[in-house]
Amino acid sequence: MIYHSTRDKQETAGSREAVLQGLCRDGGLFVSDELSDCRLDVEELLPLSYKETAKRIFGLLLGDYSSQELSEGVEEAYGSTFSAPEVTPLTRIGENWLLELYHGPTSAFKDVALCMLPQLMSKALSGTGKRVMIVTATSGDTGKAALNGFRDVKDVAITVFYPEGKVSDIQRLQMITQEGENVAVCGIRGNFDDAQSAVKTVFSSGAGAELEKEGIFLSSANSINVGRLIPQVVYYFEAYKALRNQGVIRKGECIDFCVPTGNFGDVLAGYYGKLMGLPIRHLIVASNENNVLTDFIRSGIYDRNRPFHKTISPSMDILISSNLERMLYYMSGGDVELIRSLMQDLKEKGRFQIGGELLERIQEVFPAGCADDEKTRAGIRRAYEVEGRLIDPHTAVGYQVMQEKGEKGVPCVLLSTASPYKFCRDVYEALFGPLSGEADGFAYMDALREKTGVEPPEPLKALRGKTELHKDVIDPGEIGGYVMKKAMEKLGSET
Ligand SMILES: *Cc1c(COP(=O)(O)O)cnc(C)c1O
Repeated sequence: MIYHSTRDKQETAGSREAVLQGLCRDGGLFVSDELSDCRLDVEELLPLSYKETAKRIFGLLLGDYSSQELSEGVEEAYGSTFSAPEVTPLTRIGENWLLELYHGPTSAFKDVALCMLPQLMSKALSGTGKRVMIVTATSGDTGKAALNGFRDVKDVAITVFYPEGKVSDIQRLQMITQEGENVAVCGIRGNFDDAQSAVKTVFSSGAGAELEKEGIFLSSANSINVGRLIPQVVYYFEAYKALRNQGVIRKGECIDFCVPTGNFGDVLAGYYGKLMGLPIRHLIVASNENNVLTDFIRSGIYDRNRPFHKTISPSMDILISSNLERMLYYMSGGDVELIRSLMQDLKEKGRFQIGGELLERIQEVFPAGCADDEKTRAGIRRAYEVEGRLIDPHTAVGYQVMQEKGEKGVPCVLLSTASPYKFCRDVYEALFGPLSGEADGFAYMDALREKTGVEPPEPLKALRGKTELHKDVIDPGEIGGYVMKKAMEKLGSET
């Protein structure tokens, strides 16, 4: 399978190289025109385990890895790292379904991909003599999942940038207590978009070229990396299989998914599943108050020139949704000239516009809706009080949008993207009001457990008493220098 840039079909790479590189040199994202030839018969997958399904999907999409490499990677990634035997269990929420994606080591769905990406990366590196510095901007969850996944991986180091003051107490603690010789964590004075843009600039700046002279290459663990996207396709198949195996739907019957969205990575993975033959009708795009995608899908106008809102679903506080570029590529039938000009407009004016048939095609597959914080809190309450389910604020955004956009008679699977305990303060306050005095994240964790009887995940409980190791905070403009310094420190002299 050959990958190429969304902006230029001549800019190509095999899957190993695409994983190592992360972003294309021209700033585009790796896509493949062969995706819709990679069809899978779901019926054949019904008896397979999560791991077996993953191997089948990876075998199709990551063609230049050997089946032994993929098999080893899958065993390592999903053998014992998830606390649920099904990896991503499907459970009920009212008339619909909740796909629980948060049973991994860092309690967010990012783990599903970030347990596998390091496997793919180190196998692609082996024997090349290259070393890689992973540079990642995080809105809160990718950072910890990537740190956990890449910790102590040979010939790889990782630097994570998070927006200081704009992640939850627990998310921050998870990152700044990260152990490991090859990790660096740093706060940014700004928001996620500032961090993400600065990171993208490092890739095209002189810093990258300087490091290459030392044999050190830059790569990304953000969902712009195909190695991040592809593992997420698996759980869409798993959800469908579970509904078939439980007799909820018949052969070939279509279902909907509702996906809380920021960078459009997770929902795009669902679209990949659809292109591969999974009977999906709608992929409902759910946004918080930063509803740039809702407006785009309704009007065809993507406009990031708007106030940035800090919400209780911080991992979705994003105004530049990177993977939209991939969706537009596929929806426009691979029109690289169009993508190039739209992305030029976005860069220069912060805005682009589409219309006509392209917009209609997008609207047919991706209904969109949004929920502000008040509506999100109402969603947390409704899920708990009416359905007896404790859900996190991101999932609650999706839950509210699902009520509006779902249809009776078509089963809808809501992707539950994080454990409520990562956001225990906001979840607790939505349900029971604020605790008195100066309560920290742990006080809320205890209180939430006491009131609901739901156990917090072990790794979150274990944060108590961990040492804060990473205290750097810098301006976005300093990111390039910081990456250079850390790369030399962690990978500079070969050992
Ligand atoms: C990252 C994240 C999202 C958004 O996922 P995208 O792939 O960026 O659309 C939603 N919920 C949670 C909890 C997340 O961590």
